[in-house]
Amino acid sequence: MSLDKLKKQVCEANKALERNGLVTLTWGNVSGLGPARKYMVIKPSGVAYAVLKPSDMVVVDLKSGKKVEGKNNPSSDAPAHLVIYRAFGDVYGITHTHSTFAVMFAQAQLAIPAMGTTHADHFYGEVPLTRALTKKEVKDAYEIHTGNVIVERFKSLDPVAVPGVLVANHGPFTWGHSAIDSLNNTIALEAVAKMAFGTLLLNPGAKPAPGYLLNKHYFRKHGPNAYYGQGSK
Ligand SMILES: [Zn+2]
Repeated sequence: MSLDKLKKQVCEANKALERNGLVTLTWGNVSGLGPARKYMVIKPSGVAYAVLKPSDMVVVDLKSGKKVEGKNNPSSDAPAHLVIYRAFGDVYGITHTHSTFAVMFAQAQLAIPAMGTTHADHFYGEVPLTRALTKKEVKDAYEIHTGNVIVERFKSLDPVAVPGVLVANHGPFTWGHSAIDSLNNTIALEAVAKMAFGTLLLNPGAKPAPGYLLNKHYFRKHGPNAYYGQGSK
């Protein structure tokens, strides 16, 4: 994919955040990584979604973290995105928002339990919660440490099977094999957070769905034996 095409895709995904009710003001950003894993394209900092154009996107070198193209400053969360790309080799798109229901779980410091099949279609098991950042981590290189606690949480988790996380007291980051895919995982994450919230409100004793049901739903959409959809893959 050319850099111009990637800018267009990342711009579209950022605009879709607003259309899908996932952001307030400019609290959200999507990035994409080129196929050579050399350059990250990300939303500029503080620019309204309605006026975003592909040419406003900022290009950052993955290795050095330096801006290589663009008239604007990159999103202030760019260093967190870079940390995630460097650690997760199959990830080519990242979305971060402060979407309401996902943030409620992050602020309550609760993982999102897999209560049913909607959840299992997108996430294999609960959507995990990171530890809280320390005072020192917040003071120095805050955004890098935000990326670091995410990577730390996935030490024994597969980021492909669980394409999202809640940063404690902050909010969700999701990822995927493209910018649009990471956006779709954010849409799914907000929906399952809302459903889990309502489920636990109706019945605080409700238990996660049984493993055999969750496995059925996850593996009919993902992996070598998937059969959901039109079979084009
Ligand atoms: Zn944030």
